[in-house]
Amino acid sequence: MSIQRPQGTQDFLPQQTAAWQYIEEQIRALCRRCGYEEIRTPIFEATELFQRGVGETTDIVNKEMFTFEDKGGRSLTLRPEGTASVARAYAENKLYGQTPPWKLYYLGPMFRHEKPQAGRFHQFHQFGLEVLGTDDPLADAEAVWLAWTLCAKLGLSGLELRLNSVGCPVCREKHRAALTEFLAPQAAELCADCRVRLDKNPLRVLDCKNEACRRLTLGAPALTGYLCPECREHFAETRAYLAELEIPCQLDDRLVRGLDYYRKTAFEILAPGIGAQNAVCGGGRYDGLVQEIGGPPSPGIGFAMGLERLLGALAGQNVTLPLPAPPSHVLIALGPAARLRGARLAAELRSAGHVILMDLQGRSLKSQLKFADRKQAAFALILGEDELAQGIILARDMRTGEQRAIPLADLGCRMPLT
Ligand code: ATP
Ligand code: MG
Repeated sequence: MSIQRPQGTQDFLPQQTAAWQYIEEQIRALCRRCGYEEIRTPIFEATELFQRGVGETTDIVNKEMFTFEDKGGRSLTLRPEGTASVARAYAENKLYGQTPPWKLYYLGPMFRHEKPQAGRFHQFHQFGLEVLGTDDPLADAEAVWLAWTLCAKLGLSGLELRLNSVGCPVCREKHRAALTEFLAPQAAELCADCRVRLDKNPLRVLDCKNEACRRLTLGAPALTGYLCPECREHFAETRAYLAELEIPCQLDDRLVRGLDYYRKTAFEILAPGIGAQNAVCGGGRYDGLVQEIGGPPSPGIGFAMGLERLLGALAGQNVTLPLPAPPSHVLIALGPAARLRGARLAAELRSAGHVILMDLQGRSLKSQLKFADRKQAAFALILGEDELAQGIILARDMRTGEQRAIPLADLGCRMPLT
């Protein structure tokens, strides 16, 4: 049997990578304009980083990690997300010692062992950003604005921003008591996972996708009703900035992040057009994370956007991306001497920045013209032994079929031909 790619992974062929590159360029340009710089961290990390940085009670750590041992018996894990790695790099490289805040972004593959289905892969790609070293609500709003603007600029419509505040450990403690009291009488009707959550982390029951659990939690006490004055103020200011930035948001008190180091802002951006897996972006504030993995207390806010989901939403909404197609030329050199001269000419023109395609199989004039047509070249540049002897090259306009002779010595300064 021939070897196939692993389950839950994809090959991106050239027809698809053009769209990926376009989106990546839009991301980089927008990040640059907002003062975010790129950070690149390893694809694998010590397993403990995710156990502590993502949390032992999360699905990611419980069920979804690709974990292996290296030859020295150390447990390593393919990164399932980027925030823990960025927080580790921030602490390890002592970035906190320099003037805060740090505004960082990353782009790259992530790995989660989930049941593969539409919009859910074993290897997928995220664009994420993190602001470390400030808890200013403007940082929260700016991160939301950037994610929202990227989706909108790419052409997605019907976007929905869901927003919540999960407060701080003080607010959560009070809320936990009220929530447990609300849920306890219905415990028997909750799903098996939620019965465990009820005991360990009842907040996460609100997040359960199970229909029965969702029904049972209707009317459960909302965390926003228990916010301490500082968290309430932070939430109000974040919303005021978002209103000023004209980003409509829906308050959603089911949007929770159950771990201790998550604070205040939690958000998600949904895009219609990709079916059930319609969350393209999830983010929030994690003021306790850096400390959790061994650094000094440092506030942080960030998000991660699933690029397969983003592309899926664009396809689902029939958005065509304005993929750049610079004018290209096919250089057709016929015969050994013309091919030698042609090779040098192609090198010179390419070095000068022009797109020059050249046959690599010694094909006939007719099939090379067909090739130029298929590549949608603006011009074919034809160099046979006769043209070479006369010191000219024939430029054939591929749309009109018109041909003109150009002295070889002049070609460089006449490019690109129009
Ligand atoms: P979901 O509820 O869809 O599983 P999540 O809460 O696990 O999402 P995050 O950890 O917040 O997702 O990751 C941020 C984004 O990464 C998601 O909004 C989604 O767009 C994307 N994403 C997450 N898991 C996958 C996956 N297995 N395949 C493709 N994209 C994914
Ligand atoms: Mg998930």
